[in-house]
Amino acid sequence: MGLVVQKYGGSSVADAEGIKRVAKRIVDAKKNGHQVVVVVSAMGDTTDELIDLAEQVSPMPAGREFDMLLTAGERISMALLAMAIKNLGHEAQSFTGSQAGVITDSVHNKARIIDVTPGRIRTALDEGNIAIVAGFQGVSADSKDITTLGRGGSDTTAVALAAALDAEVCEIYTDVDGVFTADPRVVKKARKIDWISSEDMLELAASGSKVLLHRCVEYARRYNIPIHVRSSFSGLPGTWVSNENPQGDAQVEHAIISGVAHDVSEAKITVVGVPDKPGEAAAIFRAIADAEINIDMIVQNVSAASTGLTDISFTLPKAEGHKAIDALEKAKSAIGFDSLRYDDQIGKISLVGAGMKTNPGVTASFFQALSDAGVNIELISTSEIRISVVTRQDDVNEAVRAVHTAFGLDSDSDEAVVYGGTGR
Ligand code: ASP
Ligand code: MG
Repeated sequence: MGLVVQKYGGSSVADAEGIKRVAKRIVDAKKNGHQVVVVVSAMGDTTDELIDLAEQVSPMPAGREFDMLLTAGERISMALLAMAIKNLGHEAQSFTGSQAGVITDSVHNKARIIDVTPGRIRTALDEGNIAIVAGFQGVSADSKDITTLGRGGSDTTAVALAAALDAEVCEIYTDVDGVFTADPRVVKKARKIDWISSEDMLELAASGSKVLLHRCVEYARRYNIPIHVRSSFSGLPGTWVSNENPQGDAQVEHAIISGVAHDVSEAKITVVGVPDKPGEAAAIFRAIADAEINIDMIVQNVSAASTGLTDISFTLPKAEGHKAIDALEKAKSAIGFDSLRYDDQIGKISLVGAGMKTNPGVTASFFQALSDAGVNIELISTSEIRISVVTRQDDVNEAVRAVHTAFGLDSDSDEAVVYGGTGR
């Protein structure tokens, strides 16, 4: 039997009981003959608490010290977990990201992994240990400073280690039974997906699904690492995410739609009264790009013939809203628009599935479902395997449920279980 990497999220190790429960699971995997590497997140809401604390001593905590602080959360859980495993009579050693060979660039708070050199982990395994690694952290190749990978980054640590150690599988343990056809916190009748392609999973993650981070799925796809998302609270098999269907394409009837994702973290900016001439959109989005803001959807209205003016709307993370407004105000005279409107009461609903490439009518059914639910559409964008709309934020939950039902995704058996946590 081969090597498995298991990752446990904060809600799975929220307290001493949780740590002991997880330790038993890990020991079971070892007893089954696997070499086991565990990646662990900070206990419960520790990371949020550390952030609050930092903000109390400094309004804008600096990159290096902030990272040094945040990585403490994962060091606590890794050491406690190693102790709990030893208490069950098995050998375990904990390692910081740096000790485990997680090498990153030097961008504090959102570093990227550039290499993984897990020599010490290999040695620990060869000596019969279970290796416990602190997630979400690494060490900069250049500055040698400690870095963090961005919120939720432990998933990426796990996949990166799985790739570097040539693991059979990367198991991501969380507080739901797998990836569902919609957020089970919103849709009680959401169905657990047994297998989903990396392609569809990437699109769901980009559309607001929080169960797996986009970067983690991207990494797994590139290195062809199968991910098994499952609950640490139940013994049930979860969802497999991989490039190829393990059962082979031929035998499996492909679902047309993989799922419905929603996102209420975005805001909409409308640039009103833009002269309808070449170069205007370029000037607007240059100003936004220079402020290092990523945008999502864009629409430009037809210009009124009488005025020769048009409106351009786009969506972006709420957190970047003020920065974007400032950047556009500064460029106002150069661009030559009338005014700006800012709206943070929007939500986005996305339907995802590779099957829509070859099935006509998916878009029509999607819009029909929204219309039947009385939901007004404000913006639309599509890719080959996704349709997204922006609506009022208050309509989002209702819209997700309506679309889920319309596409026959509702389960007829048990309601989805949420074991804990707050959705991450
Ligand atoms: N503890 C970090 C966070 O809460 C990393 C993680 O949970 O993956 O974002
Ligand atoms: Mg966490």
